[in-house]
Amino acid sequence: MKEERNKELLERAGKVIPNGVYGHMSVGNQSPRTPQFYARAKGAYLWDYDGQRYIDYMCAFGPQLFGYGHEEIDAAFINQLREVDIATAPSARMVELAEAYAKQITHCDWSMFCKNGTDATSMALMVARHYRQKRKVLIASGAYHGATTWCSPVAHGTLPEDRAHFIHYEYNNAESLRAAVAEAGDDLAAIFATPHKHDIIATQEPPDLDYARAARAACDEHDALLILDDVRGGFRIARDCSWQAIDVAPDLSTWGKALANGHALSCLMGSDKAKAAASEIFVTGSFWMAAAPMAAALKTLELIQSTDYLEHTIAMGQALRNGLEGIAKETGLAISQSGPAQMPLIMINKEDGRRDMKLSLAFADQLLEHGILFHPYHNMFFSNAISDSDIDQTLSACQKVARAMGQ
Ligand code: PMP
Repeated sequence: MKEERNKELLERAGKVIPNGVYGHMSVGNQSPRTPQFYARAKGAYLWDYDGQRYIDYMCAFGPQLFGYGHEEIDAAFINQLREVDIATAPSARMVELAEAYAKQITHCDWSMFCKNGTDATSMALMVARHYRQKRKVLIASGAYHGATTWCSPVAHGTLPEDRAHFIHYEYNNAESLRAAVAEAGDDLAAIFATPHKHDIIATQEPPDLDYARAARAACDEHDALLILDDVRGGFRIARDCSWQAIDVAPDLSTWGKALANGHALSCLMGSDKAKAAASEIFVTGSFWMAAAPMAAALKTLELIQSTDYLEHTIAMGQALRNGLEGIAKETGLAISQSGPAQMPLIMINKEDGRRDMKLSLAFADQLLEHGILFHPYHNMFFSNAISDSDIDQTLSACQKVARAMGQ
């Protein structure tokens, strides 16, 4: 593998950007030859600066639902850009998009648009606290809701006071949730939940029905708001809010990533119950109401409604999962797979079933040589652009790597 240009860019970045690359896109904790920069993206593929092509299973950490550079979605974006994008006030696209989500998403009566998932979760927090003037917010331990003072997984630069009114519970554990609710007492403002357990490194778990219903019941009993953080899972699990499948309706849901197939847009959706509180908080941003990403989101929603993208991504995910199960059996390599097939976490375990980070890093590292981009400890994402032949190529590479590692 050639790495010259990537290395050169990394070296230059380190001089002018703190940490070279910061945040979730830093590959600092992955194998040293993981590309840190990409020169080109199309469909299911990425190209690094040294000319190597990869089948990409990360989809930019979620935003790509229909593949990179999707012609129709990008045409909608570009056409809108030529009319009006960011202006002194929004365009009609904002009204149309809020109307479209109110039709499409069962619990949704209104939308507020912003740029990142963290904007949406922070806004949800404010709405929930303002709703009945209460303070305590329940969050599952290990769940990710963004990167600002109240939720960043690394506490540097934050104060204990920023997190003074958060109580942690264990995801999928109704007893632990009830204990946290009891601790909050009359001061319970909200319960945050992700659609399924999708924490890094941990085995991914579907939502337990008792747990989800206990969260709904506690919010009803205490006149608090249930917030479903669908930033990562939104439109990858269902053509509706992800908990629609288990028939548990949140009061607020937060969205981002896939909404506009990679164009910058996120959203807080809510039911009528929370509309007055949402109308009274002050939130805004210079780029939040830009029209071009909203035009892209309208086109993305059209494709969500009119194509079999969901069935296709599930089928492709399942084909990879089945193939990897066979490879694990054949080679003896303990390939651990969890999560929805289209959002899988794939890691390598020790014989006793615990994670082996070294082997997980090595597996992803070896796949790079075959032009396959896996993440060693974060859940991955399937876009609609992944094809049968991509899966065949991926499985053939996985088999070679697993044979070498399984010996
Ligand atoms: N919530 C969840 C569940 C997420 O997965 C993420 C991003 N990974 C966020 C919130 C924050 O989104 P963003 O990075 O767009 O601020």
